[in-house]
Amino acid sequence: MSDSRIFNFSAGPATLPLPVLEQAQAELLCYPGAGASVMEISHRSKAFAGILEEAKSNLKTLLGASDEYHVLFTPGGATMQFSMLAMNFLKGGTADYINVGSWASKAMKEAARCGTVRTAWSGKNENYVRVPANSELDLDPKAAYVHFTSNETIQGIQFSSEPEVNGKPLFCDASSDFLCRPTDINKYALLYAGAQKNIGPSGTAVVILRKDMLDQVPENLPPLLDYKNMVENDSLYNTPATFTIYIISLVSRWLLKEIGGLEKMYAINKDKAKLLYDAVDASGGFYRGHALPDSRSIMNVTFRVGTEEQEKQFLSQAAAAGLDGLKGHRSVGGCRASIYNAMPMEGVVALRDFMLEFQRVNG
Ligand SMILES: *Cc1c(COP(=O)(O)O)cnc(C)c1O
Repeated sequence: MSDSRIFNFSAGPATLPLPVLEQAQAELLCYPGAGASVMEISHRSKAFAGILEEAKSNLKTLLGASDEYHVLFTPGGATMQFSMLAMNFLKGGTADYINVGSWASKAMKEAARCGTVRTAWSGKNENYVRVPANSELDLDPKAAYVHFTSNETIQGIQFSSEPEVNGKPLFCDASSDFLCRPTDINKYALLYAGAQKNIGPSGTAVVILRKDMLDQVPENLPPLLDYKNMVENDSLYNTPATFTIYIISLVSRWLLKEIGGLEKMYAINKDKAKLLYDAVDASGGFYRGHALPDSRSIMNVTFRVGTEEQEKQFLSQAAAAGLDGLKGHRSVGGCRASIYNAMPMEGVVALRDFMLEFQRVNG
């Protein structure tokens, strides 16, 4: 095993911006003014209050979110949100879910414990190769909300714009494409993301919740699963994942100050994805993309390589060349290059060059 950093294409936990890791390293033993590590200070201390405030305000700035929105940090990642949102807002009623892949299916399974989950559209019979057009959605006027997964991490498909939901509250699992492009947050009642893809370490979800939704929260939920309680306590009902929130404050600062905001991030992300999809498209079928072109994700590029044997060689030779984490999810196989915000262009160029060379030798 090498001691130097590789290009890490892992789907999550995923690569973080190097300047963020360097700053965390520099501040690891002593957070400025605190006399101790962020990991060692009270979540009610002044120093941590500043970190939490910055994380929230950076996220609101990046999303252009008004004071109509709360920013929360909840335990249990995105999976806990599958349950929490249903406990708060489904409550024995009906909700519409757009099933575009593995994560949407899991969200539906958890919500079904709390009410009726309607399938507004499913890509299952097509093996989840695309997202639906608005005209294909079958929406129920009585639905409490419409839930969609903006980017399916495993299949590598992504919505290019929000589904049209006729004024229903729109809920979104944005775990794997959070902050990858400008987002009109005003279209959403609830948007959540497990932190470990695009914004920080694992174990926490970022939740953006529109204030008026709190009126619907029922009484007597367990306190950590009660959005109202979490809002009233500013995510500090119990001890939150303080170090994770600290890294989120640094990643969001990096997006604002070093990248220069989400328009710039989006331009970089599109360029990165294009390099890989162009290599797939120009390969004459040696590389075969999973997603239909209109639904291709700019975060997770899924593809197959040559024969089964060649695919194994591709993965092992890539890893040996310092391009790791490319194995597709065990449920679908193949290869997947996760190229989140923090994956530098150099990493994607190195992978593209590796793909071209591998095909030249083996194709
Ligand atoms: C990774 C992922 C999840 C699960 O996140 P956890 O934080 O592990 O619960 C849910 N949805 C999507 C789209 C994901 O990519």
